[in-house]
Amino acid sequence: MEPKRDYYDVLEVERDADAKTIKRAFLKKARVLHPDVSDDPNAEEKFKEVNEAYSVLSDEQKRANYDRYGDANGPSGFGSDYVDVSDIFGGSGFGINDIFDSFFGGGSSRGGRTTRTRGRDMGIRLAITLEEAAAGCRKTISYDRLAPCDDCGGTGFAEGGTLKTCDRCHGTGVVTSVQRTIFGQMQSQTTCPDCGGTGHVVDKPCETCDGQGRTPSKETVVVEVPVGIRTGDTVRLKDKGETGVRGDASGDLVVSVEVLQHDRFERHDDDLYCAVKIDSLQAIVGTSVSIDGILAGEKVEVKIPAGCQYGDQVTVERRGMPRRGLGSRGRLVAVVRVETPTDLTRTQTLDVAALVAERTLDGVEVDVEATKERADREGASHAKENMAEHFAAEAENDLKWEVPENPFKQARGSAGKPGRGRKGRHK
Ligand SMILES: [Zn+2]
Ligand SMILES: [Zn+2]
Repeated sequence: MEPKRDYYDVLEVERDADAKTIKRAFLKKARVLHPDVSDDPNAEEKFKEVNEAYSVLSDEQKRANYDRYGDANGPSGFGSDYVDVSDIFGGSGFGINDIFDSFFGGGSSRGGRTTRTRGRDMGIRLAITLEEAAAGCRKTISYDRLAPCDDCGGTGFAEGGTLKTCDRCHGTGVVTSVQRTIFGQMQSQTTCPDCGGTGHVVDKPCETCDGQGRTPSKETVVVEVPVGIRTGDTVRLKDKGETGVRGDASGDLVVSVEVLQHDRFERHDDDLYCAVKIDSLQAIVGTSVSIDGILAGEKVEVKIPAGCQYGDQVTVERRGMPRRGLGSRGRLVAVVRVETPTDLTRTQTLDVAALVAERTLDGVEVDVEATKERADREGASHAKENMAEHFAAEAENDLKWEVPENPFKQARGSAGKPGRGRKGRHK
């Protein structure tokens, strides 16, 4: 591998060259070396070398590192800092080929003067959070585009220059060539190489932009993202795309929005789904849970009915995503997750155990009111005391948990016929 050439040598600039000089030197070199126009077999390699040099020297920090340490990454840097060609002018916006297409008047030219001098639309992606989509937001984004040239104010002429009709094509933008083939003479029309199909040439072109009236530069815009936007929706910023050649109309910047996944809500159109946790006791009697909504500071009351099951959905109208341009909102759908409580006090566990014992006695469905009455009538309170003693003893003796004897057994047993209900079920 050959040793790497000095970046300043590659661009043929002085070590103290300012940013503008470096940019100018780069554009000059790149125009000649671009693989699409150069005949040099090593054009691609050289083009990459120029790109690499420019990507470092055009970045203040990288250049400082390079000057000081001989490496764009600083003292600990290693290897090359080569940036992919398509990334140099912002991977998000457009590739370098687009720039050179426009420099050389590339693009469509299907005969006649259809060569584009208008700027193209540019696409850029913008990721926002679900909260931002719900409330609407303003986002500042930076990107690279072909913007009006500062040095000539977008005209493409140096001082004293003018726009002339192209001598080669006489303003038609196309040249006709005749070829002799086995089928006879073939006439073909191609884009005029002198004017790039525009029909005009600048007699004293601006050096910075080579007469195009536009140069690659960084642009910063503020995007107003409307309330309720969805992934894939776009916001169009007029004239913020590629600048046209020598003052021709500019393209638009098309911002394609991506709404990021939320850690609590899942969006289905304008409905928001979320999980709501309750414990199994709350599931039995029903409860009301207050959760944070999607808007800042918003509280949503979710009323969970008695007897609700794991996975049941409880809908709250008009608490989902605000709808774009409508002022209304979708639904909030709470999906119930039932969990077993593990923090019951001893007394509470006792109560539940008593209830479970009651229900498992004979396997019949138990009416809660009736159960209470019966428990009172049949001395459940006494049974509870027995159980409390059992737990107390367990704590004292450091015993392992044992299922207490069914406190209702004796009471029911004395009333006779235990287990009959169960047998009755096995028909
Ligand atoms: Zn210029
Ligand atoms: Zn021409």
